[in-house]
Amino acid sequence: MATATLSIDLDAIAANWRALDAASPPSTQTAAVVKADAYGLGADKVARALATAGARRFFVAVAEEGAKVRQALGPGPEIAVFSGHMDGDTALIRDYRMTPMLNSTEQLARHLEALPGHPFGVQLDTGMNRLGMEPGEWAAVHDLVLDLKPRLLMSHLACSDEPSHPMNLQQLRSFREMTDGTGVPRSLAATGGILLGPQFHFDLTRPGIGLYGGEPFVEATPVIALRVPVVQIRDLDPGETVGYGNSWSADRPTRLATVSAGYADGLLRSLSNRATFHSGIKPCPVVGRVSMDLITVDVSDLDHDPQELDLLGPMQTVDQVADRAGTIGYEILTSLGTRYARRYTGVGA
Ligand SMILES: *Cc1c(COP(=O)(O)O)cnc(C)c1O
Repeated sequence: MATATLSIDLDAIAANWRALDAASPPSTQTAAVVKADAYGLGADKVARALATAGARRFFVAVAEEGAKVRQALGPGPEIAVFSGHMDGDTALIRDYRMTPMLNSTEQLARHLEALPGHPFGVQLDTGMNRLGMEPGEWAAVHDLVLDLKPRLLMSHLACSDEPSHPMNLQQLRSFREMTDGTGVPRSLAATGGILLGPQFHFDLTRPGIGLYGGEPFVEATPVIALRVPVVQIRDLDPGETVGYGNSWSADRPTRLATVSAGYADGLLRSLSNRATFHSGIKPCPVVGRVSMDLITVDVSDLDHDPQELDLLGPMQTVDQVADRAGTIGYEILTSLGTRYARRYTGVGA
């Protein structure tokens, strides 16, 4: 079989949730962000594993994702939607009992009109200028909203992966100004915010990337491994070139392995001539361009011909691969395609 295997350790995801939960006091609840199909790892299995670990609140980006998570989890846990209550979402929000995080007075009006009495939260903009009500907008509806007992007031940090960035304290101050004294449960921290310390924790934290083993949670238990079969091996003479555009040429007699994965599998083309596979603990550099289904790897320094090579695993994290590609772990994770054979291990597999 030429299909590469993506292994996903559900026990590691559960362990990361427990570790992030333990990073805040018991009075702070720890939710789980499972948007974008749980960062590409499979929202149904991941959400069930996290529920088994103890998570009771889940966040998704859009209502359609929430419906899938509701089907996986059954009626108990709360499922909240960051994009709020969009036109056309009413039936999903009602039938799958989701809690929209309302982002504007327009969404507030839509929600109260369409589903009076249905739970909601409010997202506030504290400076990121992406989602949420602006301070002035919030001031105008604040009294009305508080009478309706929202489930949550939340905001999101723009620079939480940089602990000393002044934006963190600026947003904290703005969040407190908008929410102090409301008596409503509050949430400001995603993974990065949890690591900033207790003043950022409030009543609920919302980790995503840390659950999946990514930075800034550097102490995370590794979650995924990616092993790619070798389709063919050949010898090159010095001066021979490899791949589209002849972007690499051999400067010594070279043994070259062609492995079965490419940019269609989320192994970005920017990894061309930059990434490293491993055979056991031995590094093997990518040479030539990453193509759609294939990548060429220099295996000259191995004392055997490998049958498969590892891109992700004990020798290399998602963030290390992301560095080589000039991006972040989030993008590598969510780009991993649908073509892999996915092997789940642990509780819930
Ligand atoms: C994605 C997201 C999170 C989770 O962020 P991580 O950095 O992955 O922990 C939390 N809150 C909001 C609003 C988000 O969009």
